[in-house]
Amino acid sequence: QAKKQGKDRFEIFEPALQAVFQAGLQLEADLRRAVVRHEFELRYQPIVHLRTGEITGLEALVRWQHPERGIIPPLDFIPLAEETGMIVPIGEWVLREACRQAAQWNLRRVGEKPLTVSVNLSAVQLDQADLPQRVASALEDSGLPAECLVIELTESLLVDHRPSTLHQLEQIKSLGARLAIDDFGTGYSSLAYLRRFPVDIIKIDKSFVDDVGDEPTAAALTLGIIQLGQALHLSTIAEGIEDLEQLNELTDGNCELGQGYYFAEPLTDDDMSELLFPAAGGSVGH
Ligand code: C2E
Ligand code: MG
Ligand code: MG
Ligand code: MG
Repeated sequence: QAKKQGKDRFEIFEPALQAVFQAGLQLEADLRRAVVRHEFELRYQPIVHLRTGEITGLEALVRWQHPERGIIPPLDFIPLAEETGMIVPIGEWVLREACRQAAQWNLRRVGEKPLTVSVNLSAVQLDQADLPQRVASALEDSGLPAECLVIELTESLLVDHRPSTLHQLEQIKSLGARLAIDDFGTGYSSLAYLRRFPVDIIKIDKSFVDDVGDEPTAAALTLGIIQLGQALHLSTIAEGIEDLEQLNELTDGNCELGQGYYFAEPLTDDDMSELLFPAAGGSVGH
């Protein structure tokens, strides 16, 4: 009887599983085409000095411009891109394009401090033995000074790191680029990473920032992370600032930098150009 029930259940679920499987195959085929046809775009979110409001840098965030489905956000295709290895060519394009665009903007910022550009890296990319050379080549070809490049790593990336990971990161650092830990505080051993890896910047996860204004525990943890950063001489960037209350709490807590919808959403290159060069009147001088 139980066996029969089990069989019936299997038959009920099978078509659904089949559909999921088909959709996955379709997405994979689409993604392969996207890599060949360059269907990716970057958005740029400003990173702001909290006390002065000055834009000090940008985070590059990838989007997939799917011909039928429109814009697909990274969380809907990065995992598949990682599983299939397609993140390697995609990530390389992101890195090169972000460096190229940042270098171009910096050329127009005469007499101003150059902007940094932050690029998110996948574990699969770190497994590529030639990653440091690829980073070096992206810097060289774009003319972006290495000090202007920030490589963002998530804790999950560092969790099951290979012995080669540290070596790779040290080589990237020796070029002059900097390393940030993304989504800090959400992993199980955030503190251990600060000892093991040559980190320069801590990005306080949005989940802490969300509640910093109205939940004492979140506020205490956020302030604790900021103080930890200060003690270790690291920069702190608060992620996902959405309102003035959060901004005030973070500024009072001496958090140096932040990003979030309160300042700006991730912007297209054209919109970012307008934000950076309001007097230039759009595309003049391109
Ligand atoms: P992340 O690196 O932590 O990036 C921050 C995410 O938070 C971005 O989502 C950004 O749009 C969003 N965000 C920023 N401010 C706010 C805010 O005030 N409120 C809310 N609700 N959200 C905010 P996005 O662009 O969808 O990216 C999601 C994740 O995808 C990124 O998280 C990053 O882990 C990954 N990702 C994005 N681009 C790339 C890439 O080029 N390569 C790799 N490997 N991963 C990427
Ligand atoms: Mg990031
Ligand atoms: Mg993050
Ligand atoms: Mg995240």
